[in-house]
Amino acid sequence: MGKPTGFLEYDRRLPEDRPPKERMKDWKEFHTHFDLEKLRLQGARCMDCGIPFCHTGKLIGNTSMGCPLNNLIPEWNDLVYRGNMDEAYRRLSLTNNFPEFTGRVCPALCEGSCTLGMHDPPVTIRNIECHIIDTMYAEGKVKPRRPEKSTNKRVAVVGSGPSGLACADQLNQMGHKVTVFERADRAGGLLMYGIPNMKLDKSVVDRRVKLMEKEGVTFKLNTEIGKNYPAVKLVNEFDAVVLCTGSTAPRQLTVEGADLKGVHYAVDFLKANTKSLLDSNLEDRMYISAKDKNVIVIGGGDTGTDCVGTSIRHGCKSVTQLEIMPELPEERTPNNPWPEWPKIKKTDYGQEEAIELYGHDPREYLTTVTKIEGDDMGRVKAVHTVNVEWKNENGRMVSVPIKGSERVRECELVLIAMGFLGPEQGLIKQLTLKTDARSNILAKEEDHKSSLRGVFAAGDCRRGQSLVVWAIREGRQAADAVDAYLMK
Ligand SMILES: Cc1cc2nc3c(=O)[nH]c(=O)nc-3n(C[C@H](O)[C@H](O)[C@H](O)COP(=O)(O)OP(=O)(O)OC[C@H]3O[C@@H](n4cnc5c(N)ncnc54)[C@H](O)[C@@H]3O)c2cc1C
Ligand code: SF4
Repeated sequence: MGKPTGFLEYDRRLPEDRPPKERMKDWKEFHTHFDLEKLRLQGARCMDCGIPFCHTGKLIGNTSMGCPLNNLIPEWNDLVYRGNMDEAYRRLSLTNNFPEFTGRVCPALCEGSCTLGMHDPPVTIRNIECHIIDTMYAEGKVKPRRPEKSTNKRVAVVGSGPSGLACADQLNQMGHKVTVFERADRAGGLLMYGIPNMKLDKSVVDRRVKLMEKEGVTFKLNTEIGKNYPAVKLVNEFDAVVLCTGSTAPRQLTVEGADLKGVHYAVDFLKANTKSLLDSNLEDRMYISAKDKNVIVIGGGDTGTDCVGTSIRHGCKSVTQLEIMPELPEERTPNNPWPEWPKIKKTDYGQEEAIELYGHDPREYLTTVTKIEGDDMGRVKAVHTVNVEWKNENGRMVSVPIKGSERVRECELVLIAMGFLGPEQGLIKQLTLKTDARSNILAKEEDHKSSLRGVFAAGDCRRGQSLVVWAIREGRQAADAVDAYLMK
């Protein structure tokens, strides 16, 4: 521990994000960095608490506690305080393949479990993580590591999201020959075509993919296994196959009018935008534009927030984000104690920008959609909503419409951000894999083995819709399981 009294002397500080007024005019990242001196003081706040919960990575019931990657947080906090960034990077790399991703987009489960957070604001762990890796890149110290030996075993990884990339990276370093198959034209999964550029600049994803290529990983893009590359052929050609295909089947909106023109799933909207941005700086017009439209986003979560931020950058007329659940409290409730992840209200970048632009938070809680109305041309013209209250009926919480609260909201674009049901089933059916009750590929966390010998599963397609940090953990675990299977 660098400074025993650091947590008493220094307050939690984060570098100021770029102001909403400025950042909403472009697609550049909005987070910024401190200089090293200021960062050191934040590292000094780590208490060396003896039993650090920040890196435990456990689930308590359905709630996360600490970093799922078991990042050695107190160690690198101390090293940062001492100004030893090279060693901090070495320690960070032991557990996290891609700190440049988690340092930007992770909700920082670690900070929810930081011991200092029991009575003071927690250590700025995520920001420190991001700073360490960005410094190393800037100083040219993140270099390709060519594996020293080859096992001549061939492994196919299907899907290049964070789980597929982490799995491929680990297996490659173990000496196996890894090919990543990706149906999209760019690698990265939702890191590339889900999370918008202002949260995670796509050059950051490309940089890592290029590094992995230099290290020996082969990427085959525009190749959909089960469609333009037979799944059984793949299984026969490779010594092992790891499915990292994500949880991409969206939860459907089942109300009348959901199929009207102008109603889109959030990921289709976000993906088209990023692709057009990268291909032509939006000049090819191959995206779903929110310009001059009243936009209704259905879903109050992070994906909905990304839709709000993207719509604002297009120049929408207004944006409203509907959420069926109640507003979260500002502080932890007694049944959500430390070190659980705090279920508290977060005003994220999209909402900050909407507040700046329109003077109010775009979120409306306890509101659901009853119908979408179209015009004569089959285009969306309004969304019908009603407020709800939650009632306990025979032990189950159900939403009950409140009479008289019905509203008709004019709009020209509706974005459905209601989460995902599970993985797409085509490939799973072709390989006759068993699935669990939620339609995910059935495989235990201990060995990631599917019901077909030599086929493994990791990431959202096994665990269900989750987070980048969990996907990286899944990819690492699956790589260990594949290695044990190949080398036994
Ligand atoms: C809009 C959005 C924003 C998000 N923001 C955050 C965030 O800020 N922070 C966070 O931690 N998490 C976020 N998440 C969640 C996070 O992105 C996912 O949990 C994570 O990407 C899952 O990783 P994965 O590797 O399992 O799958 P994915 O990232 O979904 O990657 C799966 C890949 O498999 C490919 N694929 C599928 N089937 C085939 C096939 N048959 N052949 C070849 N390729 C195939 C897909 O094209 C895709 O590239 C967000 C999710 C969304 C939708
Ligand atoms: S990966 Fe996420 S949970 Fe783990 S240390 Fe980084 S920010 Fe915290």
